Amino acid sequence: MSDITSLTLTELVKNIKDKKISSEETTKAFIERGEKSRDLNVYITEDFSNALAKARSFDEKPNFDLKLPGVPMAVKDLFCTDGVKTTAGSKILNNFIPPYESTVTQNIWNEGAVLLGKLNCDEFAMGSSNETSFFGNVQSPIAKGLVPGGSSGGSASALAANLTPITIGTDTGGSIRQPASFTGTVGLKPTYGSCSRYGIVAFASSLDQAGPMSKDVKDCALLQEIISTYDDKDSTSVDFKRNEYSKELTNNIKGKKIGIPKEYRVDGMPKEIEDLWTKGIEYAKDCGAVIVQISLPHTNYALPTYYIVAPAEASSNLARYDGVKYGFRSKGENLIDMYEKTRSEGFGAEVQRRIMIGTYVLSSGYYDAYYLKAQKVRKLIKNDFDEAYKKVDAILTPSTPSAAFKIGEKTNDPVSMYLNDIFTVPVNLAGLPAISIPAGVDAKGYPLGLQIIGKAFDEQNILNIAYAMEEKISFKNKITEWWIK
Ligand code: GLN
Repeated sequence: MSDITSLTLTELVKNIKDKKISSEETTKAFIERGEKSRDLNVYITEDFSNALAKARSFDEKPNFDLKLPGVPMAVKDLFCTDGVKTTAGSKILNNFIPPYESTVTQNIWNEGAVLLGKLNCDEFAMGSSNETSFFGNVQSPIAKGLVPGGSSGGSASALAANLTPITIGTDTGGSIRQPASFTGTVGLKPTYGSCSRYGIVAFASSLDQAGPMSKDVKDCALLQEIISTYDDKDSTSVDFKRNEYSKELTNNIKGKKIGIPKEYRVDGMPKEIEDLWTKGIEYAKDCGAVIVQISLPHTNYALPTYYIVAPAEASSNLARYDGVKYGFRSKGENLIDMYEKTRSEGFGAEVQRRIMIGTYVLSSGYYDAYYLKAQKVRKLIKNDFDEAYKKVDAILTPSTPSAAFKIGEKTNDPVSMYLNDIFTVPVNLAGLPAISIPAGVDAKGYPLGLQIIGKAFDEQNILNIAYAMEEKISFKNKITEWWIK
């Protein structure tokens, strides 16, 4: 058998079920590799000794009917884990140990998986490069000094570096798809309402969704069927018929109509992204899909709309961190002084910027001009997709307007950082599912992804298209292991 850590989830599960490897052996392999990989800075909290104990107890009483039998897995530090520190990448939650478990992670443990630890992310998931984390930036395994993308940067880096066989992230404006694209991995942002938000540290509640990140589409389908459940603890959870996505996965997409939106050809888009998209269209045709030119006329407004709606909701969600109920507290001369010091010292610069923008657009006098207007534009963006889906079954675009950039390159220029999300945010605003799959490399050899956007609750269809295209693309991630100690 090849090295345990380089197996896909599906291969790993098969080996465990065939009793070729135990959960303990598997867990040990990922822990040992994790210990040699600290230069990537992917872990905020390593939970290695608990992981080993759980793996051993699984081996003593194995249950091979489970979908993740004794499989070790690290998760983004935005998911509350009962008894294990959960920071959201922030100083303000630096000492927070949740007394409860998020529904998504609970679903994963119910299938037999074992928690390896909590993965680094941008502070409160605000960022596109994992540089806003209080716990330092994450290195991409692709090359030294390169960002892994964000905000699920720790998740993407850990996955691409074989420190976890599969993982989960959250996506408010692209935080699963963009880091997947930057690291040559697969990432799915499910339909809003498909995965429970219960126990996930909130950023922008009308946009946040949890989703799987994996080495291939099959693994992605398997994890999606595990994490997507109706949950009455989340008032926006939707009770729809969920497929067994991995069982129903097919590469037969003959006759599927795939739309190419002309508005995604943005000014100044690098030629290599344009070429990748053209190649993607050819791959889709080779798979038997029919290409249809479409228009999503309000695409241009998606980014400004997102950067009003998301900070508005964030400023409201983050009001709870006041040093009283939980988390970091600074000393103050009186209550107001304590609030002010706690929040100025506890939140980083990007989070403070969003709180200020959000508070401004929600303030009386500006509410109608900004927030209400943004909500109206959001509806127009959603209507564009509804119109398009009268003609097509799915939409194909690049995942990001560029490949990964260098650490520090965009930190002083928030607008250029925000532009990273240009192809991903419309999907969140419309509540749709979308998957990013690796499809090529740029001139430097850095991975580039293609995004397939689906109709609401039609995850199976985009997984199938991704599965068929993945076969044609046959992308191989080149990892040099430069960080191994
Ligand atoms: N990069 C975007 C932002 O900073 C998206 C983040 C996310 O999806 N969590 O808001």
